[in-house]
Amino acid sequence: MSESPRESWVEGANDPSGGFGLANLPMGIVALEGRGASVAVRAGKSILDCRTLVEVGLLSRLDRGTQDALAAKTLNPFMGLGRGAWRATRAELARLLAASTADLRDHAARSRAVIPEWGSSPRLPCEIGDYTDFYASVHHATNVGSMFRPDQPLLPNWKHMPIGYHGRSSSIVPSGTPVVRPKGQTVATDAGPPSFGPSRLLDYEMEVGALIGPGNALGEPIPVARALDHVFGFVLLNDWSARDIQKWEYQPLGPFLAKNFTSTISGWVVSLDALEPYRVPKPPRAEVDPAPLDYLKWDGDCVFDVNLEVLIASASMRASGTAPTRISLGNFTEMYWSVAQMVAHHTSGGCNLRTGDLLASGTVSGPTPESRGCLLERSWRGTQPIALGDGTTRTFLQDGDEVIMRAWCERAGLPRISFGECRGIVQPSR
Ligand code: CA
Repeated sequence: MSESPRESWVEGANDPSGGFGLANLPMGIVALEGRGASVAVRAGKSILDCRTLVEVGLLSRLDRGTQDALAAKTLNPFMGLGRGAWRATRAELARLLAASTADLRDHAARSRAVIPEWGSSPRLPCEIGDYTDFYASVHHATNVGSMFRPDQPLLPNWKHMPIGYHGRSSSIVPSGTPVVRPKGQTVATDAGPPSFGPSRLLDYEMEVGALIGPGNALGEPIPVARALDHVFGFVLLNDWSARDIQKWEYQPLGPFLAKNFTSTISGWVVSLDALEPYRVPKPPRAEVDPAPLDYLKWDGDCVFDVNLEVLIASASMRASGTAPTRISLGNFTEMYWSVAQMVAHHTSGGCNLRTGDLLASGTVSGPTPESRGCLLERSWRGTQPIALGDGTTRTFLQDGDEVIMRAWCERAGLPRISFGECRGIVQPSR
């Protein structure tokens, strides 16, 4: 279901390059002075305070349960309602913001409900219960595998199921939160002995995170064809990674402290309905690849055409006003495993997902060097330094570096959809 783009009375919402028009309307949580946390919707450079809209009766066309959820301090109640309520809300918000509708535009509460030029970062959009990180890009898995296991980059299981690990939700932070360089055990040789100190090989990973709407009961797997009904929307995710700690600790149970010190997500959740025009059929697998098992097979399976950009600004670049340097530009269509397959596989053994759970894609890398989504690949394990705009080079991150992730969808004739940004500045170890 695609919507015809409509003009809005909200300033900036009709800017074709802005990406926050009526076709997007991403949701998040903001802290408003004197009002506390509130569910918010972004349009142009403005935000709408949903609780105020409910209080003054401007959302009274929605059912009571939906209105109550929109008046909450977190998105979880609304996320749990499912696609029917999400679509009704999107349609009603688009109606209120349309140039032809005066209900909100001329309402006495407009100055309280619509905050223009809202410059602050949103908070975490929801309470995240469990966090799972996948490893679903064949380019990333092959590149990283070839560095550590040149004789066998992809292990025998990789093309048969989406590989993942259970991560840590307590250290997921919103965009703009400083990232302290972790300390940990690292080794000079593969056999040790280790020493303890600040990570010297700090990296980012460009990922897309899926936030779960309605969950499933324990013991009742989600069929792959229904999996996207359980996805509320997408955020950007930076899975900060300490490569030297990871190298020593990851066998035999996978990532642990190398990944759990901080993960950053963007604050605006872009709905699957907003992404519908950019949903494309999943490309067929290569002839040599195994067919997926039946529980991972779906004729309607799809990927999403989302451009993913990573930039770095060093402390000196920020001080001198030098523009951040683009490090990579990739696309979310490059995934070998789809989001639907991740959801289906995650629950296939009976595991229950709950509203607010976060499933991340793993580093999104494409086939070209410019589309590789982390510095480990981009600098090829530190052997190919990347030039920054201040004349310095990077193989891994230095203190003071800011990593900026941006994402957007655009195609001729379609409204641009922006994800906003996911930012973090590296702080020295403590
Ligand atoms: Ca990751």
